Amino acid sequence: MGDWHPESPFRLQAIDDQLIASGIANLLEHREAPLASVEDLQLVHSDAAIARVRDHLPAPGDYYPLDSDTLLNACSWDAARRAAGAAIAATDAVMAGEVDNAFCAIRPPGHHATPDAAMGFCLFNNVAIAARHAMQVYGLERIAIVDFDVHHGNGTEDTFSEDPRVLMVSFFQHPLYPYTGVHPAGSEPAHMVNVPVPAYTRSDVIRDIVRQRWLPALHAHRPEMIFISAGFDAHREDDIASVGLVEADYAWITRQLVEVARLYAKGRIVSCLEGGYALSALGRSVVAHLKVLAGID
Ligand SMILES: [Zn+2]
Repeated sequence: MGDWHPESPFRLQAIDDQLIASGIANLLEHREAPLASVEDLQLVHSDAAIARVRDHLPAPGDYYPLDSDTLLNACSWDAARRAAGAAIAATDAVMAGEVDNAFCAIRPPGHHATPDAAMGFCLFNNVAIAARHAMQVYGLERIAIVDFDVHHGNGTEDTFSEDPRVLMVSFFQHPLYPYTGVHPAGSEPAHMVNVPVPAYTRSDVIRDIVRQRWLPALHAHRPEMIFISAGFDAHREDDIASVGLVEADYAWITRQLVEVARLYAKGRIVSCLEGGYALSALGRSVVAHLKVLAGID
């Protein structure tokens, strides 16, 4: 999105580097991401939202701003379709039993993209599209979306706020972009357990939220599949926000989710990269997350 932009190609390079350095790259099965079709995008997004990306690609080297921090370049349409296509292909592979679970190292991220608008570095909502795909193609009736990105997943909440088949659990720093997700007490639907936390929240508080808010809701919902909006920008080294998680916290959270998936979902988890902009911390945190998913921690 421009040399100045934190959502940069170096993020995936940092993840690859840490997978190799940690010695786990060779223990994982790697697959290329296919392109999602327009019909796939339509599982969540309006025709206008799709056309706004597809029809505004600039010439190579130029940028087209959708908002002040969400820009298109000449490759954005294909990149966004590969991101969504990865989430769908991962869902298919997990549902077919080809793999136990999957992590999608994808960009652009997705959880801010609403049905009608790209925003916040996100063009299409990869996790929401894959969740709809899982319900439509495989007839799943209970899905959980776990969002541990430091920002509120407003696009995901918008998509599923009227669909109690989808339980969404998250925490998010508030106030912080996109300044959504805080509802008057008692007005939040039971299937939206999105917990605001102030700046400088530490890991012990986040773990209490997981134990006291997420896990009871997850056990009550008994999800047949878990999707993770895996943003790593709540890491204490990430300057885009001010929450104090470290790699061990991402491993701990992942362990809780693996256990829920084991109980109700035949272990089925599809995790998709969202944010995470401190490159070293991002790579190390993904390694911690993947070691647990792969059962090698
Ligand atoms: Zn984020």
